[in-house]
Amino acid sequence: MNKSMKDKAVAAALLLGAQAFAQAPVIGITATPGEGSHTVAADYVAAVTRAGGSPLLLPATSDERLMQATLERVDGVLLTGGVDVDPSYFGEEPHPMLGEVNAQRDTFEMLLIPTAIARGLPVFGVCRGMQMLNVALGGTLWQDIPSQVPGALAHRQSESTTLVAHTVAIEPGTTSAAVMGATTLEVNSRHHQAVRDVAPSLKLTGRSPDGIAEMLEGYPALPILAVQWHPENFAATDGDSVMLRFFRFLVEESCRYRDNENKNIENQ
Ligand code: MN
Repeated sequence: MNKSMKDKAVAAALLLGAQAFAQAPVIGITATPGEGSHTVAADYVAAVTRAGGSPLLLPATSDERLMQATLERVDGVLLTGGVDVDPSYFGEEPHPMLGEVNAQRDTFEMLLIPTAIARGLPVFGVCRGMQMLNVALGGTLWQDIPSQVPGALAHRQSESTTLVAHTVAIEPGTTSAAVMGATTLEVNSRHHQAVRDVAPSLKLTGRSPDGIAEMLEGYPALPILAVQWHPENFAATDGDSVMLRFFRFLVEESCRYRDNENKNIENQ
């Protein structure tokens, strides 16, 4: 192949790649505001990309208009893990075992979640994301499992991120069971808070053997899923096909959302 043919081939391949991603729905991923930075664990980005989504990081803001403008540009939302949720959002004083909180992030997500759901955007929550989703929609949390739930298993795993910590039983006949194609899963676990009272627009669909809430879905029939463990640690690598299903669900629902939005625009 001579140089000009090679250049043309490269240009064509790049165009094909760009077109493939132009078809991909945009998945907004909540970032963690810190000291002079916004961060997102790379596994979330990799899992969304592997599932066919185009990842876009969502920086925390308390400006509602900016948040609305950002949501105009996404087709789905991934709520990531992170530090503890401030218990004032569910009407409690801080428990002595409450860990670090992030006021800037809490403020942003309390604004983001109801707005995204009111727009009909698909949402997938992971760990803190599941807890924030529940609190933003009117539910409550255990602030510290070891001191508040006697007999609970160890949910705070310190070893490798893809070791199995416990199982989760999924309620048959639910969207959660349909997405996973299974009613039992082996999962990792890195949390000491958990969903206590489930919000009215959510349904508890999965528990660990000690009864801790591990999985939620939208009720009735909202495109919302949330899990208490970290599927992104499995889904980010080539070997996994099970945990990637959550991210595929988010991407497929996001395609549906975008197609509906486009129809609505054409009909105006
Ligand atoms: Mn757990």
